[in-house]
Order: sequence, then C-alpha cells, then structure tokens
Amino acid sequence: MSNELRRKTPPLVINQRGIMQAPWHEGDVASTTCSACGKQVRARYETRDIRMNRSAVTFSNILVSVCSECDATISLPRQSIAQIREISCWK
Ligand SMILES: [Zn+2]
Repeated sequence: MSNELRRKTPPLVINQRGIMQAPWHEGDVASTTCSACGKQVRARYETRDIRMNRSAVTFSNILVSVCSECDATISLPRQSIAQIREISCWK
C-alpha cells in the first residue's frame, strides 16, 4: 500500500536555473484562460488519451489541463511533453 503511494508521487523537477517546479497532479486545478471558449476558467488536470496533430500515434494516460466550461484540452504541462518525447523515442 505505501509502495503504491510512493510510486504515484512524481519527483520534483529541477530545471536548468535550479528552480524547483512541482509537477502537476491529476485533480489539480488552475485558473487560466481557455483557448477554445476564451473564458477565464478553472482548468482541471486529468489524464487523457491524446493524439498529436501531425501523427497518427495516440498517447495514453497523458496529463493535460482541461477546461471546466467546454471540456477542451487547454494545454500540456511540461512533464507531459517530456513523457510524450520519451514514448516517441521508443517507437
Ligand atoms: Zn473552454
């Protein structure tokens, strides 16, 4: 049980400037402007299956922020982009 919890907690990310960034977690919310409906909304972080524009590859369980108003995918957090790159290299 405790192992399970530990595995679900991503490590802190330290970028090149040495600033720590806490990765987003599923269920987090952030106030942002939705690019789809243009409203000031609360974005929910959820894991979804996404497909990149220029490829036919679907990535599963990628953390994205989703508009609470129109359900559009607003953005991919950095950690998800890194995850996608990793998966892409595998294929
Ligand atoms: Zn929206």
